[in-house]
Amino acid sequence: MKTPESHSILIAPIGDVDPRLVAAVGREVQRVFRAPPRVNTVLSDLSFAYDAGREQYHSTPILQRLAEAAPSGALRVLAIADVDLFIPILTHVYGEAQLGGTACIVSTHRLNSGPETLRSPEIAVGRVAKEAIHELGHTFNLRHCPDAACIMHYCRSESDVDRKSNDLCRYCRVILDDELRRIATGGGLRR
Ligand SMILES: [Zn+2]
Ligand SMILES: [Zn+2]
Repeated sequence: MKTPESHSILIAPIGDVDPRLVAAVGREVQRVFRAPPRVNTVLSDLSFAYDAGREQYHSTPILQRLAEAAPSGALRVLAIADVDLFIPILTHVYGEAQLGGTACIVSTHRLNSGPETLRSPEIAVGRVAKEAIHELGHTFNLRHCPDAACIMHYCRSESDVDRKSNDLCRYCRVILDDELRRIATGGGLRR
């Protein structure tokens, strides 16, 4: 049985995350994925993912824990953390997602480290919201998009993030709408 609850996207703050940022991300989730956001704690202790040599947190095991701990009612789980995330092949990541899976994460650590984000809360919130939607897009099977204005464009720097729009290009929008339709008709049960 499908309930409206099973179509909600759970936003899970980890650590010191501004509730206003969480609310802003929630509004973007609703707008882009047309799914009601809910906010709840899923994970609070990330010490299992800490790499003492790098002094950073490995995002991949965090995604596994999030997916395991996600309540059955949630369609997807989006964690927002404040720690520095990495995957082994990169110096750092803004976030990571399970492609076509349940969980994704975004971090404020790098995105909100520059002086411009202190001057402008809009820039600070906008960057995290864009990368949060980007990572959630991956959980709905969206890949990286060559269109530099598309929110699914892969960004190497914060200025790249500022340059892209907060929307999907027409091509990615069609793919997402197909995926959302598939889920609404029962074909997209969570793995
Ligand atoms: Zn990506
Ligand atoms: Zn695109």
